Amino acid sequence: MTDLRGGIDLGGTKIQTVVVDSDGSLRGEARQPTPTSGGPPDVARAMEDALREAASAAGAKPEELTGVGVGSPGDADGKTGVVGGARNLPGWEGSFPLAETLAKALGTEVRIGNDVQVAVEGEYALGAGRGHDSLLGVWWGTGVGGGIVLGGKPWLGRGAAGEIGHTVVKRNGARCPCGRRGCLEAYAGRAAMEARAHRERQEGVETEIFKIMEKRGRDRLTSSVWEHALREGDALTESLLRRAVRYLGTGIASACNLLDVEAIVLGGGLGVRFGDRFMDHLTTEMHKHLFVDDNPPSMQVAELGDLGGAIGASLLIT
Ligand SMILES: [Zn+2]
Repeated sequence: MTDLRGGIDLGGTKIQTVVVDSDGSLRGEARQPTPTSGGPPDVARAMEDALREAASAAGAKPEELTGVGVGSPGDADGKTGVVGGARNLPGWEGSFPLAETLAKALGTEVRIGNDVQVAVEGEYALGAGRGHDSLLGVWWGTGVGGGIVLGGKPWLGRGAAGEIGHTVVKRNGARCPCGRRGCLEAYAGRAAMEARAHRERQEGVETEIFKIMEKRGRDRLTSSVWEHALREGDALTESLLRRAVRYLGTGIASACNLLDVEAIVLGGGLGVRFGDRFMDHLTTEMHKHLFVDDNPPSMQVAELGDLGGAIGASLLIT
């Protein structure tokens, strides 16, 4: 049996799993929607099912894998394998021993990391961040997450670094899903954008985006719904996306003024979908706030795409 590793990206809307070999090459993958009700044990079961499917696509059983890495939202403790306060997941306000539960179910070692940080490290090792000594990953999706590599090493701070989504872009500004005001995520996170779209519709703004959502059988404005609405020329969709990008530019520029990284990698569900289309707008908005603007960082869209989070998570297993 060759050395196969599993990776699971636990997201707010879907659970993506992969099985990769020792070079990081893909051998199998599977995905499931994230349960929208229940609690952590239900989410863990869906993760187990999806990983089993990916292993079977790779011709392996889960217990034959060297191990499985998990990129998790919330407060993911790599040492204890416990995940707490994952507010994008159903019933997950408290703590849950995710690594232990999955290790028992799958019969192999399971390691946990922060979802965005592992995805950024995946891009650093195998994707858009290759060859750079320092980078800031900005993961634009349900929320706005971040990950930092400095001097070739992940910078985790004391465990809570990289939360660019909760840097303040407007004092006393919009209410953020985290409960504070004026965070970048309150303007650019998909959840906050969806709430804003609902409000604007209630105030009488014409939009097709909710009809497109229903037509596509969704109950949330997923990134694919945003993409279809944009393609159909929906004005509210375009204006909310451009507004999000304006704030992303502000937040990223402030981070660059502080860290002076070589590269920005834009990932996440919205980042991967809209990164190329809005990169010029993002760069223009960012430049307005760069203190030293004659040597800007290189701007990249994440290359590992939808599988990047799960592939990055697999790197937790060495
Ligand atoms: Zn916040």
